[in-house]
Amino acid sequence: MKGTVSVGGSFVLRFACVSGCSAPCCRGHAIALSPYEVLRIAEYLKMGSEELEERYLRQHYEESGVPLLMLERSPCRFLVDGRCSIYPARPLACRLYPAGLTWRRGAEFRLSNDGRCPGMGRGEARSLEEHILQQEAGVYIKMWERWVEFVERAESSNLCSQPLKQVFLKILLYNFDIRMKDEPAAPEERFLHRIELAGMLLSAHQPL
Ligand code: SF4
Ligand code: SF4
Repeated sequence: MKGTVSVGGSFVLRFACVSGCSAPCCRGHAIALSPYEVLRIAEYLKMGSEELEERYLRQHYEESGVPLLMLERSPCRFLVDGRCSIYPARPLACRLYPAGLTWRRGAEFRLSNDGRCPGMGRGEARSLEEHILQQEAGVYIKMWERWVEFVERAESSNLCSQPLKQVFLKILLYNFDIRMKDEPAAPEERFLHRIELAGMLLSAHQPL
């Protein structure tokens, strides 16, 4: 398919989470959430996306004008009593750790070597594919591929000179409190529908 991001990299992991660990993996730099991840967390918490943003996330506009929502992790606000309080809806980065995905200059899986995880080298060896399956990360990777395609397109669309378009894009991409006409119910379909609408907005020639 034209424009599809193909993800490279394959390796074997040997890793088992250590009980009582203080979760250094949940402390560190902020991570950008795709609109799909925001929707999944909002649904899991039965919370509106605006409230979720207000209470837990930070809005950020890239230099290119692309709107992003960031999850601060110093430490992550969803870390409660040493456990992830949104575990079934945790973002892709958390599912993949200690592996990770880099998207710039070709998408590739990498194994973290930040030295912070005491679980590295423990447990049975498993392939990256097994890890992805075990973490139910497959659908998240697919949705992130679509998100990266969209972001790359938005970055080359002169968005930074169109502030009103940026604001509309932010609403279209991240505000799930508003239900669009004929919007599908399943989160994957809903996210893809939003991406499609946002793509149409990007293509609109009239300045807003
Ligand atoms: S740092 Fe490693 S062992 Fe500790 S909670 Fe995170 S994944 Fe588990
Ligand atoms: S969302 Fe959950 S797993 Fe991810 S950093 Fe926050 S507490 Fe940790």
